[in-house]
Amino acid sequence: MTPMDGFSAEELFTKKNGFTYNDFIILPGFIDFAPDEVSLESRLTRNIMLKSPLVSSPMDTVTEHKMAIGLALLGGIGIVHYNNTIDEQVAQIRKVKRFENGFITEPIVLSPENTIADIDAIKEKYGFSGIPITVDGKLNSKLVGIVTNRDTDFETDRMKKLSEVMTKELLTAGKGLSLSEANQILKQSKKGKLPIVDGKGCLIAFMCRNDLVKNREYPLASKDSRKQLMVGAAISTKEESIDRLDALVEAGVNVVVIDSAQGNSVYQIEMIRYIKKKYPEIEVMGGNVVTQEQCENLIKAGADSLRIGMGPGSICTTQMTMSVGRAQATAIYKTAKFAKGQSVPVIADGGISTIGHISKALSIGASAVMMGSMFAGTQEAPGEYFYENGIRLKKYRGMASVEAMEAGGSKRYFAEEAKIKVAQGVSGAVVDKGSLFDYVPYLIQGLKHSFQDMGTKDITALHGRLYSGDLRFELRSPSAQLEGGVHDMYSYKEPKYM
Ligand code: IMP
Repeated sequence: MTPMDGFSAEELFTKKNGFTYNDFIILPGFIDFAPDEVSLESRLTRNIMLKSPLVSSPMDTVTEHKMAIGLALLGGIGIVHYNNTIDEQVAQIRKVKRFENGFITEPIVLSPENTIADIDAIKEKYGFSGIPITVDGKLNSKLVGIVTNRDTDFETDRMKKLSEVMTKELLTAGKGLSLSEANQILKQSKKGKLPIVDGKGCLIAFMCRNDLVKNREYPLASKDSRKQLMVGAAISTKEESIDRLDALVEAGVNVVVIDSAQGNSVYQIEMIRYIKKKYPEIEVMGGNVVTQEQCENLIKAGADSLRIGMGPGSICTTQMTMSVGRAQATAIYKTAKFAKGQSVPVIADGGISTIGHISKALSIGASAVMMGSMFAGTQEAPGEYFYENGIRLKKYRGMASVEAMEAGGSKRYFAEEAKIKVAQGVSGAVVDKGSLFDYVPYLIQGLKHSFQDMGTKDITALHGRLYSGDLRFELRSPSAQLEGGVHDMYSYKEPKYM
């Protein structure tokens, strides 16, 4: 039999050095399947499966409801940050849980007392003009009319009240309608808008004909047993987290992430025990950890999943400032190998900047990856785009940057009460990545090609090969790493995504 080329992960990661993604390469396997046959289904926690192993970081420039909705529709999950009040975080979670594909659950609503000029202003700002009218101009109030272009186009008096121009005979649909049923009604009626009302005639959602074509189905969507999108929320180990937790559970959160830069603490152990006792049905992700001893403590306390990474984040200065942490690939391999014995998945958190890094994280034992900088430039991340030197950017900052700590983000670092706050992160900007709905399918397709090259159809099989020693690796010398990048070009255009 031909001796196996390369090295097993065990051989690679028992050296004295700590390695990270760029330090090694995966040797190719045998291809007997097409990329579309690859399944990226994987475990986020003991009891939550995802169709796409992608998680967004709980950071205030990364995950609020738009990111969480987008990622869940595409098969991943978002973890909503907690650099906000309990009410604000809960409102984000509710938006995700209430989201129904194709339905506008937070339409702009006006009252009969508003004027045509108000409609003009909305048209100017948002580009649409079909507005439902309720008695007091609020959602969840009695629907009394609708105003579209047809009602206002030829009116010369723009100060006229909407009560005088609105259409009062309305076609409405009831609560609980499926997307395809609603689409069917819109098509048959030839109307442009469809208000959705509850049993008392109060407006609860809205549908627009123009959106029909955009109302794609999302076969990978991460949904819970109530068919609602899944979402996670971060909390700290501080006192206030007890109230936060209750409110988040009440809002329907699926997984709680205890957000700490160094998770092996008495505070976290107590918090995990508390949550698992009070809410056994809620999945708890503990962390962050990078050694087997740290994992052992959190798993014993009841963690359903572990978040791995101390220092690899793109915005992170922890290793420089604290001199404590671990190179990310070694951290993943060691912790994953230990945690699999207890059937606890590990999530590779931080330091991912290419599709290849995602493949590498999965190939050395991670069940999913958590990313901040990869998602921070998308339209669905919080914040507005701005320009610097002609480049369209979005703000991205570490939760332990001075800026984020001043806005309340120091809970993660046991530094809330400290008079002098030592930064462990920076704030800056990342390049515009466009919509998540273009970007994530690209990542997924890239991953499928990578799995094909490795000769493995799914993550379970990949981990099987990892631990049997059948998956082979090699370290890369510094010049091998240079060779693996683009080189010897006078100029070139980078692809939109890497
Ligand atoms: P990225 O994907 O490389 O940008 O890293 C994101 C990860 O960095 C997050 O999921 C956190 O684990 C971590 N992180 C967030 N804020 C900070 C910080 O201020 N300092 C260090 N690490 C951070």
